[in-house]
Amino acid sequence: MSVRDLIIMGCSSQQPTRFRNHGAYLLRWNDEAFLFDPGEGTQRQFIFANVAPPCVNRIFISHFHGDHCLGLGSFLMRLNLDKVTHEIHVYYPASGKKYFDRLRYGTIYYEQIKVVEHPISHEGIVEDEGKFKIEARFLDHGVDNIGWRITESDTRKFDREKLDAYGIKGPMVSELQSKQSIVVNGQTITLDQVSSIRQGDSVAVVIDTKKCKAAVDLAKNATLFLCESTYLETERDLAEDHYHLTAKQAGEIAKEANAKKLILTHFSARYPSVKPFEDEARLVFPNSYSAEDLKVFPFPKNP
Ligand SMILES: [Zn+2]
Ligand SMILES: [Zn+2]
Repeated sequence: MSVRDLIIMGCSSQQPTRFRNHGAYLLRWNDEAFLFDPGEGTQRQFIFANVAPPCVNRIFISHFHGDHCLGLGSFLMRLNLDKVTHEIHVYYPASGKKYFDRLRYGTIYYEQIKVVEHPISHEGIVEDEGKFKIEARFLDHGVDNIGWRITESDTRKFDREKLDAYGIKGPMVSELQSKQSIVVNGQTITLDQVSSIRQGDSVAVVIDTKKCKAAVDLAKNATLFLCESTYLETERDLAEDHYHLTAKQAGEIAKEANAKKLILTHFSARYPSVKPFEDEARLVFPNSYSAEDLKVFPFPKNP
């Protein structure tokens, strides 16, 4: 398994601040890198984060409010400049196709990269790579807005010591795997005696929404749950009016979903510090952390 982490390229909402860039989130997942909601300045944030943009092979646009997509055009152009040869998959709400096209072709541009568009009009699995699946659900934000879940497949992990103890080696291992049991020296050994299931990791990304069932479903048992919390409870009425969440509500979603770790983001510019967000969420869900620009969250270990 290679690198797995979540890098916060920015964590502001609509309006950036001196310390918080427009949102953008890079999930490095084995040999892939998923970029969520590249806002303005994402290209430069990559430089500050010391990450080379060409690693990105999938881009997700939750919705077409500017703070979630204004960096898309320049980021694609950067990949073009870097002569990226791999396919770049872009997932976005199908109803925003015209905005996608404008962002992609907003300036003079001789496009040579291979962009594979995935306009999404239906909920469900939008990608099945075998090793992982990507699921899309519509959230409650007043405009078409998609939350994502990436779920790794479960894998079977052999216990080397047990295999040795039973004298199972070489092709016998694959025979055991396909037949579920094997006879060794007259003794039947089952697959479960020498191996266990390693449950796949999962990541949920829920940005810009009111509290809704789709958010809870996406975050179900998620290893890592990145969730917006534009406001604090003191501004609960604003959160309601603008179809956003408070930090407490994000904590409630994480708790209801039994997520393992919550990362809060998309903070309103009205708050100078992001510390109160994790304090508020922790009252409901203790394993909560506020995002900060350029902060790296390593993936929690899954043995
Ligand atoms: Zn937003
Ligand atoms: Zn929005």
